[in-house]
This record gives sequence, C-alpha cells and structure tokens, in this order.
Amino acid sequence: MLNTPIYKLDENENKLYIKRDDLLPFSFGGNKARKAEKFFNEIDKGKYDSVVTYGSGSSNHGRIIANMAKARDLECIIISPEEASEETFNTEIMRYLGAKIIVTPAPYVAKTIDDLLLELNSKGRKPYFIQGGGHGNLGTQAYVDCYGEIKEYERKESINFDYIFLASGTGATQAGLVCGQLINADNRSIVGISIARKNPRGRDVILNSIKEYLESEHLEIDPSKIEQKTIFTDEYICGGYGKFNLEIERVIETSYKKYGLPLDPTYTGKAFSGMLSYVKDKGLIGKNILFIHTGGTPLYFDYLRGVSDVEND
Ligand SMILES: *Cc1c(COP(=O)(O)O)cnc(C)c1O
Repeated sequence: MLNTPIYKLDENENKLYIKRDDLLPFSFGGNKARKAEKFFNEIDKGKYDSVVTYGSGSSNHGRIIANMAKARDLECIIISPEEASEETFNTEIMRYLGAKIIVTPAPYVAKTIDDLLLELNSKGRKPYFIQGGGHGNLGTQAYVDCYGEIKEYERKESINFDYIFLASGTGATQAGLVCGQLINADNRSIVGISIARKNPRGRDVILNSIKEYLESEHLEIDPSKIEQKTIFTDEYICGGYGKFNLEIERVIETSYKKYGLPLDPTYTGKAFSGMLSYVKDKGLIGKNILFIHTGGTPLYFDYLRGVSDVEND
C-alpha cells in the first residue's frame, strides 16, 4: 500500500495532525484496505478459488474483501449476522461486486462458516478464510507498517507525536500500532477510543493480538511494558456499536464544514469526538496529537442519507 498523507489539521492548545488512511487508493480505502492487502498477498501465492469472511451489512471489511476478490475473479462469500444486516451503501457495493451474502442469526455465524468451509472443501474447492475485520497477525502487521510510516514522517518533519488516537473496534489496528511502538521502544500514548466494546474484554482482545504477533515474530518484550502501552478507553462508546448522540453529530458537521473531512458516526466521528473529550478531560496542553482516519467513507453517505441514525438515542 502507498504511504498515506499526514498533515496538520488544526492548532489551538494542542497541535492536531491527521493521517488519512481513508485515502488509501482502493475501494474508498480505510484500515480494512490496509489489512486486506496482506491477506490477498497470501491468496495470490496460493491456488485459492474463493474467499470466505464475515461482517455486518454495513461492514467496510466486507466491501473491501468483495472488491479485492472481484479484481481477481475469485468467488466471495460473506456471512452476515441477521441483527446487523441493515441496507447500507457498503451492502449495495458488496452486491454490486457480486459477493454472495449469507445472513444468519448471530449465534449461528461460527457454525455457518465451519459448515460452508467444509462443504466447499468437500467439493474440491479451495477457499481462503479471513477473520471478520481482518483480525489476526496479518492485520496486525498492516498497522505495524503504518506505525513505520508515522515514524518516517516524524523523522522528516522533526516532530514527535505525544499522542496517537484512533477508533478501536476488533483491536487489530491498535494492536499493530502498539507493537510498532514496543518494537521501537518509543515513549508516547496510543489511545484507542472504543467504538463498541467495554473493558476489560475490549482491551484483553488487543493484548492477545499484541502477544500473538510478538510471539510469531519471535520478539520478546517486557510484559509490563505491553500492559502499560495498551490504552483502551470505553468512556465514549455512547451506548454501543452504531449508536451516537448530538455531540458526535456536531463533531461530524464541524469537521466537514471546517476541514472538508468526512467522519462517520460509527467509527471515525465517534473516535474524533471521543478524542476531543479525552483531551479536555485530561487537560492536555501543548501536545502534538495525531488522529488516524481509519476510513469508512461510505458510512458518511449513509449518515447523510439518514440510514444510520435508526437507533439514534
Ligand atoms: C473496522 C474499522 C475500525 C476498527 O478497526 P479494528 O482494527 O477492528 O479495531 C475503525 N474505523 C473504521 C472506519 C473501520 O471500518
């Protein structure tokens, strides 16, 4: 993947920078594009004839996987939990790309995947399975790479980011960034703003991803350092996945009007709003802060169209 732009967005008590991973040049970009590239490098090395993954109807991951599969003429099958299968632009794009979407109640997702993989294999097919959200060491690696891009920018511009903020969901994005920091023994705070999961589970999943990655790379890092550097706050989840409030809506509106920056209420808008609250709550002043825009541009259009506020509270 190409290096994405980093630039100064605003300056008040702190200097606020942004890294635009939403501008990755494939299918409206985002962190799912950065992760998926790693999985498809593996796919390109094998003789696979299909790709199986899972994700909701509004999943950015589903869109990217469907598109990368289509580009290779591989069949793409996406298992989607019934509870989160609202029609969004991402669903439309997945269909448009010819992905087969199998909707099943959430408790049956795992079994549906197992059965499907068994069935395909028994027919002599060769499916490649990708975890939801591009979870796993390859997904983590994608954000170790991203951390490297941030370091390179810092070197070139003689700047040091004291804080890095991002929307944290399944945690692979944050795990990769934290691994990058641990490997480089840097001293800063990487703060994952949870968009759904609560502590301790949300943070535990990230810790597991970090440990799994470091182990696979045969890297030994002091466990207390790993604990100390994994900062995951669930204070701004606003009632759960996809839920948002007036404050988040105001941040989305301001950000577009002031910076021409699209944010969505499920991920980046919630995280950006959470970051502003965090900075205020902790009284941060005179810091260099980097926000990573993790993508989700189609969700911004859903928001404009009024689709994603059905559960607005
Ligand atoms: C999936 C997603 C996230 C969360 O990434 P994780 O690696 O699952 O934590 C953040 N922002 C956007 C736009 C996403 O699509």
